[in-house]
Amino acid sequence: MVERHETVGVRVGKVQVGGGAPVAVQSMCNTDTADVESTVGQCLDLARAGSELLRVTVNLPAAADAVPEIKRRLLDAGCEAPLIGDFHYNGHLLLTRHPACARALDKYRINPGNVGSGARRDEQFATICKVAAGEGKPVRIGVNGGSLNQELVVRRMQENTDRGLGLTSEQVVDECMVLSALESTGLALESGLREDQVVISCKTSRPASLIAVYRELAAKTRQPLHLGLTEAGMGMKGLVWSSAAMGVLLDEGIGDTIRVSLTPRPGGDRREEVYAARELLQALGLRAFAPSVTACPGCGRTTSTTFQELAERIQSHVRERMPDWRALHPGVERMTLAVMGCVVNGPGESKAASIGISLPGTGEAPNCPVYVDGKHFTTLKGTADEVADAFRRLVDDYVETKYPPR
Ligand code: SF4
Repeated sequence: MVERHETVGVRVGKVQVGGGAPVAVQSMCNTDTADVESTVGQCLDLARAGSELLRVTVNLPAAADAVPEIKRRLLDAGCEAPLIGDFHYNGHLLLTRHPACARALDKYRINPGNVGSGARRDEQFATICKVAAGEGKPVRIGVNGGSLNQELVVRRMQENTDRGLGLTSEQVVDECMVLSALESTGLALESGLREDQVVISCKTSRPASLIAVYRELAAKTRQPLHLGLTEAGMGMKGLVWSSAAMGVLLDEGIGDTIRVSLTPRPGGDRREEVYAARELLQALGLRAFAPSVTACPGCGRTTSTTFQELAERIQSHVRERMPDWRALHPGVERMTLAVMGCVVNGPGESKAASIGISLPGTGEAPNCPVYVDGKHFTTLKGTADEVADAFRRLVDDYVETKYPPR
């Protein structure tokens, strides 16, 4: 069991972040927040997929005006996931001029690199913190490598040169991120926020940097940490880079909430970032969200696509049934399934799973042995559709009997 980095617990709506609470999954809408209909629709999709914290951008007066209605509709739909407002440049104005927005949000995300420059930076940052303190809301001080306070970076670069410190420019930037987060936390506390109202993040797009920065943060602060590789990218690259960086940190007990910032394909499914975050936490044994499906990669021993299709169908079946199963069958998330392509590793993996099936490889008899809790239970035969239907029924029966309704 991973020992968690000890942090202060911060209450965000009904969700606790840090202070020993399970690592929470966060996601962010990419709709125009002023478009209430689309934003509520996407928030609900993300929440149903398992996002425990929902973030929307609040960039314009129209977006700030829409927030209270978005929150009302989410609650009406039974969605209690906290709603977080993401502010840049004009947060101090939007939050003071739109008090209903300030009240409706459960947390404000402030990027200290994007609140102004010089003396106005601190003043405007403090204004946001004072609104948060007055409304009793927490904030996230969200430092981002791409929008770091440039005055700070220039100063530290100069120091690096003058004092011959020999740091690379990347190391200076990493150091500035931590410094910016810690200085801003100090300013937030001076502005009236309590320690249990401040979450920190320092996102960068380079995995090695992310690891270095968060290790440093974990050593220097007790504030809960929101973890994410920013601008992770599309598809496989985004998934691998995010997992590589966040996996290391989470395994060291660092990180209290996470977001996998995937760039969706045009028309792609925004829920992918939620699924990815959940898979990451489940893979590390930090959370159990849904039954896991083990499937072999396939090789020359199985030339048909039948087992790939079956693995996909079973994965979709589990995902579709999970909302009902979660409500009715406590413990179902610990169930394990195996879908294997031939008899080489098939029976072994099937026996290790709660319920597993091996499909016939090339040249093998057209039989599909099914194992339940390590014992041979039955052998399925027939067309691919018949085998898939029969196996789904066996999975449903297993859930009914092993995880009886509460
Ligand atoms: S279980 Fe069989 S089909 Fe699957 S990868 Fe192993 S040898 Fe290949």
